[in-house]
Amino acid sequence: MARFIFITGGVVSSLGKGLASAALGSLLQARGFTVRLRKLDPYLNVDPGTMSPFEHGEVFVTDDGAETDLDLGHYERFTGVPACKTDSVSSGRIYSNVLEKERKGAYLGKTIQVIPHVTNEIKDFISIGEDDVDFMLCEIGGTVGDIEGLPFFEAIRQFSQDKERGQCIFMHLTLLPFIKASGELKTKPTQHSVKELRSIGLAPDILVCRSEGPIPKKEREKLALFCNVRPDSVIAAQDLSTIYDAPLAYHQEGLDQAVLDAFGINPAPKPDLRKWEDVSDRVHNAEGQVNVGIVGKYTQLEDAYKSIAEALTHGGMANRVKVNVDWVDAELFEAEDPAPHLEKFDAILVPGGFGERGTEGKIKAAEFARTRKVPYLGICLGMQMAVIEAARNLADLGDAGSEEFDHEAGKKRFTPVVYHLKEWVQGNYKVTRSVSDDKGGTMRLGAYNAVLTEGSKVAQVYGSDAIEERHRHRYEVDIQYRKQLEEKGLIFSGMSPDGRLPEIVEVKDHPWFIGVQFHPELKSKPFEPHPLFRDFVRAAKENSRLV
Ligand code: GLN
Repeated sequence: MARFIFITGGVVSSLGKGLASAALGSLLQARGFTVRLRKLDPYLNVDPGTMSPFEHGEVFVTDDGAETDLDLGHYERFTGVPACKTDSVSSGRIYSNVLEKERKGAYLGKTIQVIPHVTNEIKDFISIGEDDVDFMLCEIGGTVGDIEGLPFFEAIRQFSQDKERGQCIFMHLTLLPFIKASGELKTKPTQHSVKELRSIGLAPDILVCRSEGPIPKKEREKLALFCNVRPDSVIAAQDLSTIYDAPLAYHQEGLDQAVLDAFGINPAPKPDLRKWEDVSDRVHNAEGQVNVGIVGKYTQLEDAYKSIAEALTHGGMANRVKVNVDWVDAELFEAEDPAPHLEKFDAILVPGGFGERGTEGKIKAAEFARTRKVPYLGICLGMQMAVIEAARNLADLGDAGSEEFDHEAGKKRFTPVVYHLKEWVQGNYKVTRSVSDDKGGTMRLGAYNAVLTEGSKVAQVYGSDAIEERHRHRYEVDIQYRKQLEEKGLIFSGMSPDGRLPEIVEVKDHPWFIGVQFHPELKSKPFEPHPLFRDFVRAAKENSRLV
């Protein structure tokens, strides 16, 4: 039976609750415990799959095909535990389940209410798989006081009462603003936030306080007194230069010890932190640097490509270099020479994306990388763009394009070398789709196998000829152009096991040019960098030596 840690936030959003939860998970693992992390989001979307990356940041995809919040990416990167469908839920999903049950007559005769029907649905969700791990960490999105969050707060309050005494604890993350004029760290917003929590029946056991600098003893004691927590359960979360210092920093502050104390786990098993010491050493002691240009569309919000940025950092750690990432808006050079924008980079990455905007710029970036022999990694849309570029410029298909951009009925602008996939195989099942399907949750999602061509670059990079990677896309490269493209040097070096769907392409006689239909960034970890990112950064390093 798991012990539960509920993580809430107050004062302001974006305090790094996800990171704190992930770091705590990794520290409990370092002490020999098993963990699972979950995110409960109060918004009404059923999942973030249909939200704009500008608004919500990246959509993180799990092996079992759930489109989830980017915090699940942090959880995986810090604990290495693959997240699944049952690790992420929103109010939208909860309400839609309740309403579906109501229509089926599951509550026949009853008036459906937030308490108990919605709260019961939330509680059922929290307890899925509770016998499988030592600790279940559940993060509640948003901040205390949000109207939408109330059913979740009420549900976790009830949940802790349903369980044995001491089986659940509450950790609350807040901000201690520093007022320059008076030179003081202010505790009042935290006091108010805890008051708000207590008014809905929740008393925090642990306070994690974000602050620019250390928390002096006086403020710590004040917080403990006014917020009714023990002084050693007031944990400072100072700003860090890298997120990968978080496990060690939280450990030094005593977070994991405070958690074990709160559960009465005594004596506490000693932690083995060697893994994180190595990670931290690699981040801080890089022996050089490389410059990578990411040519994308959602460049104003870095969170839109969160996992890619992290995977590049991991690739840098593996090669002991710092990876400087520059975000380049693909629209900048749709009508001009991309060279002035791209020449400064040691390698170019074109990430995933949706819609036509910016695609001509991405095609130009692929052409620049291919012809100038600059290392290129194309991910999902980035692979599709590389194929279109090769079709246009190498295989005499001047009007090659993607069906994704030919949405006006009857007006065909392109020869679709990338087409809308309507039928495919997933495990032992056939999946079918039509153009009129819902937008949410209808893509080719989650983990699929691919078979790699012996002797190819990717087979060498992976050190294997069979891989499994996560997907999130609607369109596919058309196999019928394979021969034509391979004759011109674009090799289809990874295919779905049934040989129908191109999964990887690479350019022959190029130092490093690989396009993948899947999202390798989702599986990269600081202590286990993804082979493609490790090798891509190695190629960038090699290229930087040449110039
Ligand atoms: N828009 C493209 C598709 O649906 C690519 C998606 C992506 O890059 N994730 O196939």
